[in-house]
Amino acid sequence: MNSKRKIYPVFLPHAGCPFQCVYCNQHAVTASFSGQKPQPEDLAACFDSTFTPLLDQALAGAAPGEIAFYGGTFTALPVPTLKALLERVSPWVKEGVFTGIRFSTRPDCMSREVCALLEDYPVRTVELGVQSLSHEVLRESRRGYGVEVVERAAALVHDHGWQLGVQLMLGLPGDSRERFLASVGKALELRPHMMRLYPTLVLEGTLLAEWHRAGKFRPLTLDEAVEWCASAYDILLNARIPIARMGLHGDPELEKPGRILAGPYHPAFGYLVRVRRWRESIDRVLEGEGEPRHAGVLLLDVPKDQLSEVIGPRQSNLHHWREKYGLARVQVNGSPSISANGFQCRWVNRDSNSCGRAARNPL
Ligand code: SF4
Repeated sequence: MNSKRKIYPVFLPHAGCPFQCVYCNQHAVTASFSGQKPQPEDLAACFDSTFTPLLDQALAGAAPGEIAFYGGTFTALPVPTLKALLERVSPWVKEGVFTGIRFSTRPDCMSREVCALLEDYPVRTVELGVQSLSHEVLRESRRGYGVEVVERAAALVHDHGWQLGVQLMLGLPGDSRERFLASVGKALELRPHMMRLYPTLVLEGTLLAEWHRAGKFRPLTLDEAVEWCASAYDILLNARIPIARMGLHGDPELEKPGRILAGPYHPAFGYLVRVRRWRESIDRVLEGEGEPRHAGVLLLDVPKDQLSEVIGPRQSNLHHWREKYGLARVQVNGSPSISANGFQCRWVNRDSNSCGRAARNPL
């Protein structure tokens, strides 16, 4: 389940952040602003240069969507700055040009006071940069808050009737597959309306880069990150939680040489995760059916618009199934009658001419 609502993003890098988190360098991930911590006048200029074209787009009839403040800690901005930004965008929401205000912030920067201030504006969605719900990972990553702070922040968002987004990172210092998947499970208890999953990268200009250079931090490999994320994606699909994004947006700024020093970056990370989930999901069904080993042909019927995810890059999933089950051929058919994420498989055994069939109902 993907979240496809339109978002008009205004990036205000590190604006409001109480400190620079060990893994974060917003100047490396977006071209919208560069330099040191922005001053109020820089912020205004940065806002204007980004907001004006977005407004023009929305006025010209682009799809309706929320105006979003990303890249910093929105609710920790000085109150006059916060109010000034809200005042700038709110009239356009009231006019119906945007559907609401959205922002990302740290869980420990959501207080009753700031929520009372926000109540006067058409806020619709709050994205909490939770990153992990493991005490150990939060501590080793020096996030500066504990799990109970996240729970309080999520409760405040629900109490005000706003949509809750939860961002988690995988592969932070102290993380493990078990801790990450336990975090995903705990995140569901926060009752999010949508989630984002980001693998930890080693970016230039961060403390993590120093730890990496000193041999104190090892990022996940791309394969590990894809595998962890595929398991998380499966959990979220089953829980019917929309996933807004997996992996960082492939900004040209981020892809410049020297920006990413190490870590599981891939411009199509989300696609790789979906491909892996199909592989594992179909494996689970086939293994449960006693494995169609030495079958002649495996026939898979899958949703037509998910055909490329099932097949994978350079037919990687087809090669996997052929080798794993000793198949002569795997044929994948895109079927308009199968709902998203469902599939049917049939196979014909080579030796006995017997056949088998299995299906997984759409979620
Ligand atoms: S992770 Fe969030 S809070 Fe930390 S420095 Fe980056 S934008 Fe600021």
